[in-house]
Amino acid sequence: MPEMLASYVAGEWYSAPDEGTMVVDAATGDAVARVSTTGLDTRKMVDHAHQVGGPGLRRLTFQERAAALKELATYLDANKAAYHELSLATGATRRDATGDIDGGIGTTFVFSSRGRRELPDADLLTDGDVEPIGKGGTFVGQHVYTSLHGVALQVNAFNFPVWGMLEKLAPAVLAGVATIVKPATQTAYLTAAVMRDIIASGALPEGAVQFVCGGAGDLLDHLGDEDVIAFTGSASTAAVLRGNDAVTRRAARFNAETDSLNCSILGPDAVAGTPEFDLYVREIAREITTKAGQRCTCIRRALIPESVVDDVIAGVRARLDKTVVGNPRNDTVTMGALVSVHQRDEVREAVGALRRSAEIVYGDPTSVDPVDADAERGAFMAPVVLLCTDSERTEAHQVEAFGPVTTLIPYRKPGDVGALAARGNGSLVGSVVSYDREFVHEVVTSAAPHHGRLLILDRDCAGESTGHGTPMPQLVHGGPGRAGGGEELGGMRAVKHFMQRTALQGSPAVIDALVGRS
Ligand code: NAP
Repeated sequence: MPEMLASYVAGEWYSAPDEGTMVVDAATGDAVARVSTTGLDTRKMVDHAHQVGGPGLRRLTFQERAAALKELATYLDANKAAYHELSLATGATRRDATGDIDGGIGTTFVFSSRGRRELPDADLLTDGDVEPIGKGGTFVGQHVYTSLHGVALQVNAFNFPVWGMLEKLAPAVLAGVATIVKPATQTAYLTAAVMRDIIASGALPEGAVQFVCGGAGDLLDHLGDEDVIAFTGSASTAAVLRGNDAVTRRAARFNAETDSLNCSILGPDAVAGTPEFDLYVREIAREITTKAGQRCTCIRRALIPESVVDDVIAGVRARLDKTVVGNPRNDTVTMGALVSVHQRDEVREAVGALRRSAEIVYGDPTSVDPVDADAERGAFMAPVVLLCTDSERTEAHQVEAFGPVTTLIPYRKPGDVGALAARGNGSLVGSVVSYDREFVHEVVTSAAPHHGRLLILDRDCAGESTGHGTPMPQLVHGGPGRAGGGEELGGMRAVKHFMQRTALQGSPAVIDALVGRS
């Protein structure tokens, strides 16, 4: 029997006594680990975070917390080879793993250095300037942020077992709030390996981080107004958690990052032969093959001028033909497996739903010949591109096939693009690929209210562009509507999500002393 993964509770490792859920390798189907939280004392975890972890972090200044993050990131960086080996079992290629593992560690470094540069050697943060209130100058106001006294429960999706944890943990540590990490069961073994090193590093005070390896059980029953639930996953799970009494009655803060039908828009100027056209087809092919299309930010809707449909299909085809699907342990493979056979079947089902109003113009969702792997035991799928020419139909704007799948949607007039983008009902990210400033302005003003992030890609920035799908620690990640309505990252904004803003009023001398101005 493979190893039962342990949770980390109030300073001790806890292994459930039952058989638990077997988690298998995405490419080979071999057993990797067992996961269970049977018997886990969730009350004890929340109490420990409230009584030990939070106070321990709050005794440190922002500068000291930033230093602790640097120590942590350095430790993880030195141990990351083991995470990369383990990541292959998730179906990710070595290149995919870089975004998850090095991306997570890099994000921790960024928060550490931004914290050292931008936060005071204190435990209280000012927001804006002093507001003069009394005419005589003896009574002023000042907004400040202080650490919440609760716990940050992070509930994560299967696709970023390392980055998903670290991008939430780093700002919570800076904010002085203890964290409980709950990864998705399917890839929990990778998060668990990193968690063991987080504890072993000794970089964070006792109780600053705990770990639930398996189902969350009754954890939410113990959360209330001082606590934060930071969720990443499907819209349906978000709806369940959002309706929990912890949120609706006891007022725990709830942040959701969910699925979205992100679009990428090709400008009418970007016809075949222009640099922007080439950038566009490269981006589409890269998006749907990176992590086998299992990124929440992946381009699901490609909005293209009607006149270039054939050219785009030919361009994307030429790129996708080079894709080598198979076991990520084989160095010739460029696209690995989906996370599980169950997930592959869900993606196939979603493609079936999309086909009600679109035709497949590239790939076959039911047939694949993976390199170094068994097509039945591993969760493989070939890239699939669909074409939806009926603008009245809703499927392409509503159905998320969380795999190597995208739909081309032609538009007639540039003025139609904003409305088409909005039909995703709120997305994490959109991109516009064009060298026409007027078109870009029109798209940005019409599409930005429906997006958390917009990439404007052209020949001038392509060399340094981080791409459509990659959230950056400096920039906001999240989106309105269907994308969950939440917000993460965005530099020091992320830290403030774990803090309370309060308007202080008093004499200038007292206020200045409190915020360290005197
Ligand atoms: P999921 O099924 O919604 O699961 C997400 C997390 O919620 C997992 O840790 C899961 O735990 C947990 N969970 C499920 N039911 C729960 C409950 N009743 N109480 C407490 N926790 C519960 O999503 P997924 O399949 O892992 O991820 C794929 C989806 O996530 C896609 O739709 C994708 O678009 C979205 N996603 C969004 C973002 C973003 O940043 N916006 C990033 C990545 C993925 P178990 O695994 O133990 O069930």
